[in-house]
Amino acid sequence: MLLEPDIKNQLDQYLQLMENEILIKVSAGSDTNSQDMLVLVNEIASMSPKIKVEETVLPRTPSFSINKVNEDTGVTFAGIPLGHEFTSLVLALLQVSGRAPKLEQEVIDRIKDLKGEYHFETYVSLSCNNCPEVVQALNLMSILNPNISHTMIDGGTFKEEVESKDIMAVPSTYLNGEFIFSGRMTLEEILAKIGSNPDSSKLNDKDVFDVLVIGGGPAGASAAIYTARKGLHTAIVAERFGGQVLDTMSIENFISVKHTEGPKLAASLEEHVKSYNIDIIKPYKAKSLRKNEFIEIELENDALLKSKSVIIATGARPRKVGVPGEEEFRNKGVAYCPHCDGPLFEGKNVAVIGGGNAGIEAAIDLAGIVNHVTVLEFLPELKADAILQEILYKLPNVTVLKNVQTQKITGTSKVDGISYIERDTGALKHIPLEGVFVQIGLIPNTDWLEETLTLNKLKEIVVDKNGSTNIPGVFAAGDCTDSPYKQIVISMGSGATAALSAFDYLIRN
Ligand SMILES: Cc1cc2nc3c(=O)[nH]c(=O)nc-3n(C[C@H](O)[C@H](O)[C@H](O)COP(=O)(O)OP(=O)(O)OC[C@H]3O[C@@H](n4cnc5c(N)ncnc54)[C@H](O)[C@@H]3O)c2cc1C
Repeated sequence: MLLEPDIKNQLDQYLQLMENEILIKVSAGSDTNSQDMLVLVNEIASMSPKIKVEETVLPRTPSFSINKVNEDTGVTFAGIPLGHEFTSLVLALLQVSGRAPKLEQEVIDRIKDLKGEYHFETYVSLSCNNCPEVVQALNLMSILNPNISHTMIDGGTFKEEVESKDIMAVPSTYLNGEFIFSGRMTLEEILAKIGSNPDSSKLNDKDVFDVLVIGGGPAGASAAIYTARKGLHTAIVAERFGGQVLDTMSIENFISVKHTEGPKLAASLEEHVKSYNIDIIKPYKAKSLRKNEFIEIELENDALLKSKSVIIATGARPRKVGVPGEEEFRNKGVAYCPHCDGPLFEGKNVAVIGGGNAGIEAAIDLAGIVNHVTVLEFLPELKADAILQEILYKLPNVTVLKNVQTQKITGTSKVDGISYIERDTGALKHIPLEGVFVQIGLIPNTDWLEETLTLNKLKEIVVDKNGSTNIPGVFAAGDCTDSPYKQIVISMGSGATAALSAFDYLIRN
C-alpha cells in the first residue's frame, strides 16, 4: 500500500466524482520503481469500478498514461506522481473521465483552436511546489485538444535523462523535443508562449472603472474585494494572480489558519475575488500610468484602461546579485527556489548567497539534500533570526562565510564554482561547486512608475497612513510600498486601507 489511509479516504471521495470510464495504460519493468508504480495504479483502480488498467509499452518505463476508453488523451506520468504531483494525478483522473475543468470558456476555446502538433514534456521534482501548476495546465491542454500531449517526468526516477539534458531547475518544459521554458507558468502564460493570445482589442472598449487595482497578490485581492463590497465598479489587472504567495511552500502565520500552502492560499484568493463582480484582466502587465481626465493605465500590449481611481499593488520579485555568471547560468546551476530545485543538487556542493531568514532557511533545507552548503554573507554577521542560526550552526555539512562579497559565478556550460572577495583582507577566493542559490531579498515591481510616482531610495512607493501616493486618486498597498514589513496579513491590511481610502476619495470627488 503506497497511500496513507487519510489520503486514501480523500481520494475515495474524489473518485466518486468520476463521470465516465477511463483506461490507465501502464509500462512497467521488474525494477523497484516500476513495481511501486504498479502498486499505486492498482490501488487506485481498486477504488473505482470506472478505472480499468492494461499493460503496454510507453517510451519511458516506469510510466502510465490516463485515457478515455476509446481514445488516447496523451496525458502520461513517467515516475510515481506522489508528493506535490499527487493532485495532478487526481485532477487528470477526474478530467479524463469527463469532469469539466474550472476554466473560462474563452480559454477552453483557445486551447481547442490550437492547430499543429504539440508534444510537451515537463521535468519535475516531487518536492517542487511550482511544478503542479505547469503539469496540470499541460495535462488539461492535452485532454482538450487531440493534437496536444504531455508527459510529466519525475527527475528523481529519470536521473540519467535529467543529467544528460543538464536540467538544473524544475519545472523544465520541452516542446517537440526543444527546451521551451522553466519555472512556474500559468495556463494563460503557456498559451501566450506558444503564440495564442487573448483578443486584447476588446480591452480598449471597457468602460471607465471606479477603481482599477494593479496586481493580483494578497494586497490587490484584498483591495478589490473591499471596493467591490462598496458597490464600486472594480477591475484587477494582474500579470500572475496570487503573486509571491504562489512561490511559498508553507505558511504558518496567516492568522486563524494554522498551516497552509502558497498555491492553496492563492487559489482561495482568486476564488474569493471571483465571488464578487470584479473584472479580472489577466495575464497582463501594466507599463505606464498617467493622469488626464481619468487615470490611465497603459498595458504592455498597448491597450489603455481608464479609471477614476487606481490602487497599485504590484508587490516585489527576487533581488539579483548582479555579478557575472548570474544571468548566463540561470537554470544551469543558478537558482532562486530552494524547495523546487534543491532535489536536483542531491549529493552535490552548493552555495547560498544571503544570510537573512530566507538564506538561512534555504541553507538548512538544502543541507538535508546536498553534500555541502556554503553560506556567503556580505555583512560581518548573519541577519537571520537567532533560532534559525542555532539550527544552522549545528549542521555538520554547512560552512558560513561572513563579510564576503560574491565576485563571480563561474562555469562553462553550467556552474562550476563561485569566486568571492574577503572584505577585510581583500583576498580573492574560489570554491568549486555545482549550484548557487540566491536569497538576498526582494526588489519592488515599480520600475514602470519611476517617472510618475514618488519612490524612496529602495524604489518603494511612498505612501501615507491612508495608502495615498503623491498623485490624488492613486493609492498603493503591500510589498511595493515603503511599509516597513512585508507579510501576507500586512499586505491584505494595507490593501483594505487603500480600498477604503479610494472609496473616500471617490465620494468626495
Ligand atoms: C518564498 C517566500 C515565502 C514567504 N513566506 C511568507 C510567510 O510564510 N508568511 C507571510 O506572511 N509572508 C510570506 N512571504 C511574503 C508575502 O508573500 C508577501 O508579503 C505578499 O505576497 C505581498 O503581497 P503583495 O500583494 O503586496 O505582492 P505580491 O504577492 O508580490 O503580488 C504582486 C502582484 O502584482 C502583479 N504584478 C507585478 N507587476 C505588475 C505589473 N506591472 N502589471 C500587472 N501586474 C503586476 C504580480 O503578478 C502579482 O499578481 C513570503 C514571500 C516569499 C517570496
